[in-house]
Amino acid sequence: MNMPKNQSSDSLVFAVDLGGTHLRVALVDDTGKIVRQLKQETPHGESGNCIVNALANVAAEWSGEKQRVVAVSIMVPGAVDSDKAVVLQAPNLPSLVNFGLKAALQQRLGWPVFLENDANAAAVGDMWLGAARGCRDVMSVTLGTGVGGGLILDGKLWRGLHGSAGEIGHTTVDPFSGLKCKCGNTGCLELFASATAIVRMTRENLSLFPESSLKDGELTAKRVYEAGRAGDELALAVFKRFGMYLGIGLANLINLIDPQIIVITGGAANGWDLFSSEMYRQVEERAFRSISQQVKIARAECGDNAGLLGAARLAQTALTELS
Ligand SMILES: [Zn+2]
Repeated sequence: MNMPKNQSSDSLVFAVDLGGTHLRVALVDDTGKIVRQLKQETPHGESGNCIVNALANVAAEWSGEKQRVVAVSIMVPGAVDSDKAVVLQAPNLPSLVNFGLKAALQQRLGWPVFLENDANAAAVGDMWLGAARGCRDVMSVTLGTGVGGGLILDGKLWRGLHGSAGEIGHTTVDPFSGLKCKCGNTGCLELFASATAIVRMTRENLSLFPESSLKDGELTAKRVYEAGRAGDELALAVFKRFGMYLGIGLANLINLIDPQIIVITGGAANGWDLFSSEMYRQVEERAFRSISQQVKIARAECGDNAGLLGAARLAQTALTELS
């Protein structure tokens, strides 16, 4: 990538991961090195100004690096209009919806502001410095509380007309399940291959496995995973089901996109050793054989930082194009 005219080689992007629970900020240089980083609780107030104030405080604390910062790049768990830098929908950050975040931050901090959906930013981070390094057709699938997705075609983030491209979590994998998704559809992938789904599927099947160690106490995805590792049959059945639906979703994706690599990330991806064999089995059975034998399905390598790195990369690229 060529350096923009107005950007020196030691320029930094003020990258922000604006989660519903945690606010993470990092100063990222043009090689992807994180120079400074912090994590705090996301402030929740009536207005988005509380988030603007929190970010202005961080910028003031990091005044030593201020001269090197060339942009602010924010990722949010929701639908965004990246051109206008407006949050259109964010169930966990309602104060930001239609709030003038870009104008408010530009005024307070003085840097250009960019905004991106978190799964899209993670896809860019994975392509830049993660498991998809050097690949040009990439799908990133985040298995968390819900299921998110980011799509890169021919080396470029593909947002679609309304910024919602790559939303594999809300593609239908079982229309007859009777399970309603918060998006309004029934039988979405998110209802079977997320941390929330692990807990629900375990609870629903408790009566079929009276010997299960999960019959008492609070259910969490982590606890179900640990039970599965210890051989609990209910937990193993739940993760097999998880892998089956994920594999169905990925097989549909593979036939549609023909990607070079699918990167699997997010907290629920930690169950990989319990769900991946069924996932691979479904992909082999359902996707075009010529493609499914070559496509790589890999776990992410950037950990929690894929989104922050991707947000930084998107800002660097946008500044280059503007210069
Ligand atoms: Zn849905």
